Amino acid sequence: MTPFTNRSKPVDRRPMSLMEKIYVPAVVEGLAITFGHIFRRKPTIQFPEKQRVFGTAFRGLHVLNRDEEGRENCTACGLCAVACPAEAITMEAAERQPGEENLYREEKYAARYEINMLRCIFCGLCEEACPKDAIYLTETFTPSDYTRKQFIYTKEDLLIPHPVKEPEAYEKALGNKPKRIKQKDS
Ligand code: SF4
Ligand code: SF4
Repeated sequence: MTPFTNRSKPVDRRPMSLMEKIYVPAVVEGLAITFGHIFRRKPTIQFPEKQRVFGTAFRGLHVLNRDEEGRENCTACGLCAVACPAEAITMEAAERQPGEENLYREEKYAARYEINMLRCIFCGLCEEACPKDAIYLTETFTPSDYTRKQFIYTKEDLLIPHPVKEPEAYEKALGNKPKRIKQKDS
């Protein structure tokens, strides 16, 4: 049969020598490797006490953005859902009513917006597709949980805190986003 790659190696079927039969050199060689690792830098990180430093390209949990007045940016155009290769985004659009101008920036808004984090591959295409700066991926992990249902993030889970009513929480949730936008533009 023709091999798929040239990486296969023929098996050595020669009879074992006396040294090979007593296994001592092989055991010593194995122990040398083990002891050699004792003095190397340990790759294990004591999470959550210590946290890894992520690269600038790291993409974590999504956030639905608001403008500086606290109005929701999302206009429920559906571009993020179309761009999503994992079909993880579901939404329902609604018309903004008179008197709701302080809640929603555009005339249409997402009455329901959900992301299934078990489907999401954190590719960031939803962020790229959005024309309204309404969704972006933060540097926060999706927390672990025991049930599948908990990984369906609703609009309430995803909406960034109000920048006027909760400025500290808003800044924290914003994370390094301004930095990332600058990097994208440059
Ligand atoms: S990050 Fe990628 S997979 Fe996840 S919701 Fe956005 S487009 Fe879909
Ligand atoms: S997040 Fe952006 S792309 Fe997705 S529906 Fe809202 S405005 Fe459209």
